[in-house]
Amino acid sequence: MIRVCCVCRRIETNGTWETRTCLPDHQWITHGYCPECFAEAMAEVEELVGELTAGGGNGTACGVMDGQGGRCG
Ligand SMILES: [Zn+2]
Repeated sequence: MIRVCCVCRRIETNGTWETRTCLPDHQWITHGYCPECFAEAMAEVEELVGELTAGGGNGTACGVMDGQGGRCG
């Protein structure tokens, strides 16, 4: 099983990520992130999560639940 970065298309071989012009077609290929693109993707996710949590709604869900059974005790 070899891993191909779905962002920069580099291929992991023996623990290192290299750019290749062609893929070895006799092996199973799985798509993922190389460490660099993974870090970038995580940074983007954290940014999105930050925007979502900063956009309000703190406690709103709890308030709704409280009105219908108080499961947020
Ligand atoms: Zn990558």
